[in-house]
Amino acid sequence: MAAYPENNRTWQIIHNARKGGYAVGGFCVYNAEGVLAVIKAAERCRSPAMIQFFPWTLHFHGPAFIKYAAEVARAASVPISIHLDHCLKPSDADLALECAFDSIMVDGSMYDEEGNIKYVKSVVDRAKDKGITVEAELGRMEGGEDGLPTIDLESVFTDPDMAADFVKKTGVHFLAPSFGNVHGPYPAGGAEKHWRLDRLEKIHAALGDATPLVLHGTHPLSDEMIRVGMARGMVKVNQNRNVRNGYHEYIAENCTKVELTTLQVEAVEAYSKGVERLMVEVFDSAGKA
Ligand SMILES: [Zn+2]
Repeated sequence: MAAYPENNRTWQIIHNARKGGYAVGGFCVYNAEGVLAVIKAAERCRSPAMIQFFPWTLHFHGPAFIKYAAEVARAASVPISIHLDHCLKPSDADLALECAFDSIMVDGSMYDEEGNIKYVKSVVDRAKDKGITVEAELGRMEGGEDGLPTIDLESVFTDPDMAADFVKKTGVHFLAPSFGNVHGPYPAGGAEKHWRLDRLEKIHAALGDATPLVLHGTHPLSDEMIRVGMARGMVKVNQNRNVRNGYHEYIAENCTKVELTTLQVEAVEAYSKGVERLMVEVFDSAGKA
């Protein structure tokens, strides 16, 4: 059996995607319907997937919900891992390391360079003992994704040389670079105008295949821009609201009209369609599991 980190589920899913030339979706979910929708879509498309939570879930639902998600994900007929997105607080990282996560993303973007390295390395060192892999962000992405502070400063882009040094010093497994991508809505002109592709290409070249890149800031993002990112080293692509539109519409229309059982079954169906569309049409991960 492979040793850490090769034996880690997220590591396998991401590196298989990298080698196979496709991307894997990191789908942010908030409830059991979200968990079931991603699993249903992944099984139907024969696609690997990642289900991810914000620390909000750790506090609202509690760690038992992560255990539930991990159990149903591991019972699926395709590889699905459980991931924690944007762990800002050291106390949340401590809690996450006791939960059933395959991987966690530590967000030390609020610290200066040295503080970020120290924070991320302390988590990486402890995660290793638990068999958990770690994603980190370098540079700073603006925006107000759920639970994230809105930063008024200009975006701080990731420096390619610093990125390589950061990976070396922290031992982090996956990196979310900042190259003009933002959390939450893009300013006028969208990602097409704000992404610095030359920067992304340099970051990818500096890190090579050993450290796959993660695309944050995909709300909204055209299919074409996701493909632009994939062609420049993005292997994991985070998805939040975009795949839930059909789910919200179904609930808004039917919540007072049908039984709760029907509502849940049909809402999960609508949700999974949004997930499937990306797996088939954009990520090219369908048929890869
Ligand atoms: Zn993010």
